[in-house]
Amino acid sequence: MGLARPRRTKKFNKAEWKDVLSRLRYECGCSLPVDVVRTKVPSSIYGDCHLVNSKTRPRFQIRISKAVPQDVAYDILIHEWAHCLAWNVGNKNVTDHSPEWGVAFARVYCVVMETT
Ligand SMILES: [Zn+2]
Repeated sequence: MGLARPRRTKKFNKAEWKDVLSRLRYECGCSLPVDVVRTKVPSSIYGDCHLVNSKTRPRFQIRISKAVPQDVAYDILIHEWAHCLAWNVGNKNVTDHSPEWGVAFARVYCVVMETT
């Protein structure tokens, strides 16, 4: 039996994560503010986004599983941020994978890749 190698637990780089979020807010600003929370989500998903219909502060909320490693969290963030970016007033469905979503995805992807 060999010596057990310590398990590599890659730490979540919070500074980089915050940097990515502020760049997205600056370069891929959406029609409403976007709140991003890393939290516990239902086991069937890694993340999602929805519109918060608040009279005082309408916004998007993106939820990302706290359990996933950072590279996966970025993948989810890109996907969900593209939904917020492609969404327009009058469209009830925030989660359409329309051609507009695809274009938004490419824009968000580039910003995240340049930052990480
Ligand atoms: Zn989607």
